[in-house]
Amino acid sequence: MIIDGKAIAAKRLEELRLKVEGLRIKPKLVAILVGEDPASVMYVNMKKKRAEEVGIVSEIVELPSKVSVTKATQLINRLNADQVVTGILVQLPFPKDSPVFGHEREILDAIDPVKDVDSLTSVNMGLLALGQPRYYPATVKAVLVVLEEALNMGDLKLNKNHAVVYDLFGKSRTVLGGFRAVVVGRSEIVGKPAVMALINLGATVTVGNSRTTDLAEIAREADILISATGVAHLVKADMVKKGAIVIDVGIDRQSTGLPDYRTTDKNRVGGGRSTVDRVVGDVDFESVYKVAGAISPVPGGVGPLTVSSLLENVVLAGRRD
Ligand code: NDP
Repeated sequence: MIIDGKAIAAKRLEELRLKVEGLRIKPKLVAILVGEDPASVMYVNMKKKRAEEVGIVSEIVELPSKVSVTKATQLINRLNADQVVTGILVQLPFPKDSPVFGHEREILDAIDPVKDVDSLTSVNMGLLALGQPRYYPATVKAVLVVLEEALNMGDLKLNKNHAVVYDLFGKSRTVLGGFRAVVVGRSEIVGKPAVMALINLGATVTVGNSRTTDLAEIAREADILISATGVAHLVKADMVKKGAIVIDVGIDRQSTGLPDYRTTDKNRVGGGRSTVDRVVGDVDFESVYKVAGAISPVPGGVGPLTVSSLLENVVLAGRRD
């Protein structure tokens, strides 16, 4: 079964639009973009577009690549104090040649945790670790939405208890009791918070990283396998238990080698790339699809749900303020 993240996200965004329509004061999201990395520009524009489609007021503040840490945190302090702004996000990664590169933690922690709609401040990460998330980081929430969808399909052999209606965002702390989950990747943005969320839900969790020696063996034990590495096609069919839920977070760009006439002009979307990129995930979809009980594809899986999850957090933040 393929989990159609695009369709689920469209449904969730429509629900969100109706919710926002009923709000007297519209939430406002400000995205901070440092530099001009084409992928970051694309992501931030996509978030703005989707935000506006659901009625969230949205602004992108573009900072030059040479911006200092002080200037960036001063901007965040101003946005913290601005009552109209309900959500602030800092688009990562920073350009490697920027003075803010390497200061991500300091800059993220300048955000008021209530406005931290990506849930990446130390305070919000701490709350998640304590099992009391204020918001889930958008990508982690997207993973949970995919997981919930897979578990609720009902025909999965892995469902430990068919009587349970899986509601991963409900009160129960043990809905994944008995499930073995393996998360490949331990970054602060995806891997680590995903692990915390799964632990809170009662799963038995193992975490892999680039130095894990027996990854295939570990991965084969997983009822729920989540990969977030950025290594194209790392997860092959022989690493997956039959019937497992496989969630692919990776976004890996590969050049097809074909000329891209649409983007060779430096002023157009794509920033002057000369070849067409194709996006693949961490999972070798073609082979894993035949073994997995449920699988999220790339593109069209976790990605669109990350955007809808972020915007759900923005609305949540607006209401709590
Ligand atoms: P990072 O580069 O910060 O972290 C990658 C993690 O993968 C690290 O923990 C690293 O291990 C581990 N890793 C790397 N190679 C291997 C390997 N061969 N075997 C096992 N583990 C490995 O990336 P992010 O966490 O920020 O992002 C991961 C992927 O998810 C990227 O492709 C990114 O584009 C994508 N992403 C997708 C989003 C979405 O909305 N769909 C949102 C955010 C990210 P170690 O710690 O040892 O270095």
